[in-house]
Amino acid sequence: MNAFEYATALSPDSARSLVGNQGAYLAGGNDLLGLLKDYLINADILVNIKSLPGLNKIEPGRRHWTLGTLVTIAEIEDNAGLAQAFPGLHDAAMEIASPQIRNVATVGGNLAQHSRCWYFRHRDTVCLKRGGDLCYARESDNRYHSLFTGNTCISPVVSSLATTFAALDATAIVLRNGKETPMKMDALYHRAWENPLAHNSLDPGDLILRVEIPTSRRSSAYMQVSDKHAFDWALVSCAAAADVVDGKLAHPRVALGSISPVPHQVEAANQFLNGKTLDDETASAAADMILKEARPLEHNAYKVPMAHALIRRTLLKLKG
Ligand SMILES: Cc1cc2nc3c(=O)[nH]c(=O)nc-3n(C[C@H](O)[C@H](O)[C@H](O)COP(=O)(O)OP(=O)(O)OC[C@H]3O[C@@H](n4cnc5c(N)ncnc54)[C@H](O)[C@@H]3O)c2cc1C
Ligand code: SF4
Repeated sequence: MNAFEYATALSPDSARSLVGNQGAYLAGGNDLLGLLKDYLINADILVNIKSLPGLNKIEPGRRHWTLGTLVTIAEIEDNAGLAQAFPGLHDAAMEIASPQIRNVATVGGNLAQHSRCWYFRHRDTVCLKRGGDLCYARESDNRYHSLFTGNTCISPVVSSLATTFAALDATAIVLRNGKETPMKMDALYHRAWENPLAHNSLDPGDLILRVEIPTSRRSSAYMQVSDKHAFDWALVSCAAAADVVDGKLAHPRVALGSISPVPHQVEAANQFLNGKTLDDETASAAADMILKEARPLEHNAYKVPMAHALIRRTLLKLKG
């Protein structure tokens, strides 16, 4: 590990000024410390943000709930009110990693975690995402990679919270250039869609402050498939959210994780589902629309039927 300075910030503004353009924010440290130990990133200062006041709260509201960036995954899992308001978010939190990791991993750190691509994570492989010339995964073992991408890198976003927040139409509030900047999940990851070097759309020093989740979708569900029962990222994940009125979906949204650099959403499918009563046939037609443009590679074609089944099952879990 390279040498770095260490500081604890006591306000978001001081965190921003301490981190400069070459530092990194330290939240739970689950991802960051591994990146540093494997020389995958080089930070000249780590700014501990765990003491930032007020950012560790879960606050209910009539129009939206607010999750501070320092709320842990375990706190999401254990909060009964949140589980009732957003069952899909509760189920997503429960699937993340292990209880030990969930106890320290934070909302902000989960959203900003870096690629899990094994070529990116190998310290001796300098792929496109690390500034090299080649995407090794494209011609090699791409079993965990994307079905959709807007650039040469096929590393997908693996944050389960991002997938669920996308279905819930949540907004991350990011401190950028001294201003609170709202970013929906497609904006938070859009840069990774078009730029192979990016993991998300955050600029150096951008600080996620909180996430606001609208209460307008009272039904939500989340499902994932992983190689291992626990302590593993999803091969494919799916979140769905809607208001269900007299058995009909209102404002439905479906998002998929681990198959694209952004949580994958197809607006035409959301519109198709709007006003529909769910049954197998309707859920299946929506899944067809969501996966129509999928471009599987040599080893990841299994994700297409897996995603299709997950979309159908997740949609059918939505309750009135
Ligand atoms: C075995 C294993 C399985 C896992 N399975 C899953 C899974 O299924 N689904 C899933 O979603 N995750 C999974 N994870 C990932 C885990 O949830 C993340 O490592 C964790 O959420 C990172 O959170 P952290 O608070 O520890 O972040 P840190 O490691 O502290 O930070 C991660 C990154 O985010 C940046 N950062 C942190 N906070 C902020 C902020 N407020 N603003 C801007 N940038 C910030 C840091 O600088 C760093 O680059 C798994 C991890 C492990 C080890
Ligand atoms: S998928 Fe992205 S991270 Fe993985 S080898 Fe290709 S360029 Fe690198």
